Amino acid sequence: MRFKWFQNKLTFVIIPEANESVMRVKISRAVVYAALLAVLLLTGTAVYVYVIHFHTVVATQMTESKQQAHRSRLEQDLTSKNKTIEQLQNEIFQLSKQAVEVRTKVEEMKQLENELKKLTPANNTLSMGSAKETVAPLAEGGMGGPAHPVTTQQMRVLVKQTHESYSSLQQELTELQNQWVQSKQTLLEKRELALRTPGLWPTSSRTVTSPFGYRKDPITTKLSFHRGIDIAGKMNDPVLAAAKGTAITVGFDKFHGHHIVLEHGGGLRTWYMHLNESLVQQGDAVERGQQIGKLGSTGRSTGPHLHYEILQNGKSTDPKPFLPDL
Ligand SMILES: [Zn+2]
Repeated sequence: MRFKWFQNKLTFVIIPEANESVMRVKISRAVVYAALLAVLLLTGTAVYVYVIHFHTVVATQMTESKQQAHRSRLEQDLTSKNKTIEQLQNEIFQLSKQAVEVRTKVEEMKQLENELKKLTPANNTLSMGSAKETVAPLAEGGMGGPAHPVTTQQMRVLVKQTHESYSSLQQELTELQNQWVQSKQTLLEKRELALRTPGLWPTSSRTVTSPFGYRKDPITTKLSFHRGIDIAGKMNDPVLAAAKGTAITVGFDKFHGHHIVLEHGGGLRTWYMHLNESLVQQGDAVERGQQIGKLGSTGRSTGPHLHYEILQNGKSTDPKPFLPDL
């Protein structure tokens, strides 16, 4: 029955125009359904292909969009990094310029140190750092010329030169520092030596009544050797230490009266005699110019005066070269 249904034919009537004869086309049902099925299959396939294509296009567009965003980010990164590199290059350039300026300052400091050493008397033993040629600083003003972008190799050379320049500066500054420490030490030693060298009048009076050397003794009137100088003054006038030192003797006897011996180091001693009173005790440290006693006439003396004596390595020497000019 079913098979028979498939065998039935469908009749299609085609009417072209009103005056033309009608056409009849008979087609079996099977053929019609087969054709319909074919059309459905074709349509389905077309839809499927279209959907697949659509998906592919969308996916491709999304991928491209992502890639575009990624590229954009990379370009931004690259721009940012290029800017950073440019900044760093500028900073290196500035550093290299500063190194030149610092070197100029160091050379000026060396020059100054040499001049200071020349001002210090009797200082030939110290070795002085040889001052290198001073680098002239760049003058301000107009500049020009074609721009040539700096190459990586040039930047490397500049970085290397700057690094070397700072290393060398560091070394030179250390040497300079050592020289200054040495100079300071030398100056302190010289200052200490100057303070410990008799260089003051021990009294306010400048009246020398008896110089160093041979003389007629004021008491016996016989020729004798005067080992110091006598400076006349008023009773209880201050007697000052002629230099920094230590009181190694503070005593009294019938010849020297009240007397003080100061030890100054370097084989130098000063001796103050006939004092009315001593104001220091044995072992006291005294400063240059400090009052150590009062002028008097104790011991073997004919009147108020100070016998001032200088001993060099135990031997009396003329105090005159150790006294400032009047
Ligand atoms: Zn005397």
